[in-house]
Amino acid sequence: MIKQREKKRNDKYYNEEIIADILNILGIKFVKSGDNLMACCPNPEHEDKNPSWGINVNTGLHNCFSCGFKGDIKKLLSLYGIMSEGKIIKKQIRTFSRDRLKNKLGRQNNINYIAYLPKVFSLLDDGNIRCCKHVGYLLSRLVNKDNFDNLVNRFYLGFVPSGRFYNRIIFPIYKRDLKNKRDFVVMYGGRSVSCVSKGVPKYLYPVRARKSNYLYNHNHCLLNKFKSVIVVEGVFDVFRLWELGIYNVVSTLGCWPSKAQLHFLQYYNDITICYDNDEAGNKGLERFKEYFYSGIKNEAMVLRKKALPIGIDPGCVKNIDDWRRLPLQKMFYKRFSKIPM
Ligand SMILES: [Zn+2]
Repeated sequence: MIKQREKKRNDKYYNEEIIADILNILGIKFVKSGDNLMACCPNPEHEDKNPSWGINVNTGLHNCFSCGFKGDIKKLLSLYGIMSEGKIIKKQIRTFSRDRLKNKLGRQNNINYIAYLPKVFSLLDDGNIRCCKHVGYLLSRLVNKDNFDNLVNRFYLGFVPSGRFYNRIIFPIYKRDLKNKRDFVVMYGGRSVSCVSKGVPKYLYPVRARKSNYLYNHNHCLLNKFKSVIVVEGVFDVFRLWELGIYNVVSTLGCWPSKAQLHFLQYYNDITICYDNDEAGNKGLERFKEYFYSGIKNEAMVLRKKALPIGIDPGCVKNIDDWRRLPLQKMFYKRFSKIPM
């Protein structure tokens, strides 16, 4: 009885079109078999050569016959670091596929994040006094206040008027779908605009979301086919270098690069690490070295570091000449006859 009711409730949310859309977004190739879409198991611990994982198009429930990995849509999305706040996802999932196509981010001032927050407003929402604190904070972090509009539009910065991310500048994190040549939001974070006090984290992410699965601004570098990249710790470092006219920058959203992030970086053949020159930043730097020394797929690669003065981070650099003056140091290179400096 309970099972029947549950099935009925789920029926309202899913159908073949929606499930197929979600699998496409996640990059899962599938074949149809009755009420199920079959694919190779998405469980990272299971190397599946033949499709042994199926998802029911009516219920969204899925199951791997080989390794036993199973669950609902939410569990599947969480595997890809896509999570939502509490129950919102169930309500939003219905419009997942529809909104995704209609959504032209940046064209309008109200940014509607897909399957995430109910509504995020752009910081450019005219005359909106609800975000004056956010605007003030962002202006205080800019070299040139005239860059405000372009920065907000470029990175789709927003705010929410209430809830857990209240008092935070919200920055969406995109992943680029290379096959279909478009970006989609996979995560978001919030930077506090209040004085950071004890117990209030500077950066906040959705519950259980794994920020380490993504490289911030990587989508933009892929779009522009940049083969050289500068890696910084924070999103505000990305914003600062953008202000200086340097666009091939990604952030690891912290100073401890994850395996997934290091993997993404193999796409580039010229990598410059510019972490903060402090204890944590230098530890992160060592991790890069270890990772690339221990063998990489990219056969031609240079790894360098931009040596910042002690205690200085990229966000302190005020103009392009100061940036250029900062010394570069080689860390690692592979199969380059000449090391380009
Ligand atoms: Zn499996």
